[in-house]
Amino acid sequence: MNEYDSNRIYDLTKKINYFPTDNFKEANCYILNTCHIREKATDKVYHDIGRVKKEFRNKEKPIVLIAGCVAQAEGDILLKREKYIDAVVGPQSYHQINETISKLEKKIRPINITDFNVIEKFDTLNSFKNTDNRISSFLTIQEGCDKFCKFCVVPYTRGSEYSRSIKELILEANQLVNNGAREINLIGQNVNAYNFEEKKLSDLILEISKIKNLKRIRYTTSHPRDFTEDLIEVHQKCKKLMPLIHLPVQSGSNKILDAMNRKHTVEDYYEIIKKLTKINPNIKFSSDFIIGYPGETRDDFKRTLELMINVGFINSFSFTFSPRPGTPAFNLDMIDENEAKKRLMEFQHTAEKIKAKYRKKLIKKTVKVLFENKMKNSNKYFGRDEYFNSVIVESNNDLTGKIINIKIVKGNQNTLFGEPISNIDQSKSNYAA
Ligand code: SF4
Repeated sequence: MNEYDSNRIYDLTKKINYFPTDNFKEANCYILNTCHIREKATDKVYHDIGRVKKEFRNKEKPIVLIAGCVAQAEGDILLKREKYIDAVVGPQSYHQINETISKLEKKIRPINITDFNVIEKFDTLNSFKNTDNRISSFLTIQEGCDKFCKFCVVPYTRGSEYSRSIKELILEANQLVNNGAREINLIGQNVNAYNFEEKKLSDLILEISKIKNLKRIRYTTSHPRDFTEDLIEVHQKCKKLMPLIHLPVQSGSNKILDAMNRKHTVEDYYEIIKKLTKINPNIKFSSDFIIGYPGETRDDFKRTLELMINVGFINSFSFTFSPRPGTPAFNLDMIDENEAKKRLMEFQHTAEKIKAKYRKKLIKKTVKVLFENKMKNSNKYFGRDEYFNSVIVESNNDLTGKIINIKIVKGNQNTLFGEPISNIDQSKSNYAA
């Protein structure tokens, strides 16, 4: 979501003649768009500011603005501790960034804008075009969360659940496709809680799928509790919807899920997987896991491991529990750090084995790849298959924006390498979907 927000911030600041630069040394305004999900995010802010300070030691001070969830959660602390920061702007207030910069130009500082103005924010953002022109683009459809998992900062940094209107989303999706997008990833902290005037995520997917030049739709991140029958069915109805579902589960133990306030059980989770694979046997899953949550016993951990093996997630994101200030889990008694690390290693070893086995099976198989870009200084193209696997292919033809059948010839844990299954005749473009 920060990527989406950063792109919209670029669109905003262009209006006051502030343009992005790749040259760190020449910027006269630094906006650090931050994430607060993991610890060390704040340390990273101070570290990055240190770099700017060093660069500008004997020069005029640039404008330094912290945006995103660290600004929301720790705005006052940041301003107090690091005088080099001119302003903090929360994720629901960044539509006010131009006014903030204008004030800072007049040396009015420090500024702290961390209100929850989500309606005003999207009203402002809707008033001008989204200029993101990537082949695979993000589209924020929903923000915030009402679930209050005990470990999570999102309800405090992004606020309560808010869904954008179908009308504005269709308009923005069309803008992205007209800019060149062939894939749209619908995003929200609780994306399947999307609900605008009784229209749900499934309705939105079906509407967006009518856009002619849009070839692929994805959505992330879902919550098991909002995985309703209509959403399951749309995985059969909508051919543009990709068959990889990222469905965070966090733990395989009901005791821990309850302690986390996840509002679903392991049985609920298995039931969703069962229904989805019944309706579309090609569907595969990825997930998020927290290892070593307070109170997790060896037995609880074994259940998480069991879930990993039973579902066979083709990708997973796992971390040891990281207490976030301001969350109910912050003051809980941590389990032994070494034991948590040991469990994480064991878990990741199993996850990697499952992933490696899955990826080995892809060798010599043909997959459909949507190519996103040409790689720097080479004739290699980067794209993704339907399951979001990275694929690299050499070609003298421009593959950007095309969906092509690729035979996978080799791969490692992160990237697959392939070749087009026959010559690409661009004039006929018979491989493009
Ligand atoms: S459902 Fe997701 S975003 Fe909401 S509180 Fe839980 S982990 Fe955070």
